Amino acid sequence: MKAIAKTRPEPGVEIIDVVEPTVRPGTVKIRVEHGSVCGTDLHIYNWDAWAQGRIHPVRVIGHEFCGTIVEVGDGVTERQVGDFVASESHIVDLDDPDYLRGDGHVARSTRILGVDVDGGFAPFAVVPWQNARPTPAAVPKKVASMQDALGNAVHTVMDGPVEGRTVLITGMGPIGLFAVAVCRALGAAKVYATEVSPYRMALAERLGADCVLNPLQEDVYAVVGRCEPNGVDATLEMSGHPASLDMSIELTRPGGRVSLLGLFPDVLRSVDFNRVIFKGLQLHGIVGRRMWETWDQMAWLLTEKGLDVTPVVTHEMPFTEVAEAMETLKRGEAGKIVLAF
Ligand code: ZN
Repeated sequence: MKAIAKTRPEPGVEIIDVVEPTVRPGTVKIRVEHGSVCGTDLHIYNWDAWAQGRIHPVRVIGHEFCGTIVEVGDGVTERQVGDFVASESHIVDLDDPDYLRGDGHVARSTRILGVDVDGGFAPFAVVPWQNARPTPAAVPKKVASMQDALGNAVHTVMDGPVEGRTVLITGMGPIGLFAVAVCRALGAAKVYATEVSPYRMALAERLGADCVLNPLQEDVYAVVGRCEPNGVDATLEMSGHPASLDMSIELTRPGGRVSLLGLFPDVLRSVDFNRVIFKGLQLHGIVGRRMWETWDQMAWLLTEKGLDVTPVVTHEMPFTEVAEAMETLKRGEAGKIVLAF
């Protein structure tokens, strides 16, 4: 079968012929229908320092995908042929005390699909049955393929109370955009968003942000401070920009929460932690999805709470156009790109 793979230690990906994977005990085989391209895939494509230290070619990439189970391995009783499922990218060691305690998403033994093991940007993928998450039929397939990433947003937003609360979300990459929609679905009182790309500012408005601010053109401290003199109830930091961390601490009300998802290149010298202490802020690091509560929350949001993230999908392409997809993402001219297999 054809698969999208990193074949050499250099920039780019290729479509190559690989052996179709076969089921092993405890795994399921999925006929992949759609995959969505993640920032992680772009890191691998660009062959940046992180990718060079982590990826061992030849590696089939892709960790966000959906499809139908066509075969189950020995010992699998909770999934059946015909189930429509989406991928959870974190493969956990079921005996790891971290996983058993509920911290599988941050366990050191956790491996990632399409990074540490072959992924799902191919017509067929084999994953541990737990990583094939049943997806309600009502969820559009292009949305189904993005649930791993959407789960990041659900995990971050639902890290604290949202209904009737004011929320500031810094950074409107795909996960920030998802977070706007999740806040709306959960009944947030007001959603503020910051973003520097006009393309993504417009998407944030479409997804229901009440106030979208460009920090390069407006004084976000002044605007949010005027509307929310005591500060917002929660800030979700999704940009990884050092200035956003300071802004999060400053604009969150005393006793509020700051949930941190964006990865910072260099922050320590710019953060006043005494502000965190004197304001009694809750600072939470967020990574991945809770296994498996986040998936249950996501299914509830998509089926019961009217969560609609379809506007985040700005491009759909056949998987053979993956290079075009990567270049479009590099130019910042996309929300999510969904590939058809
Ligand atoms: Zn991803």
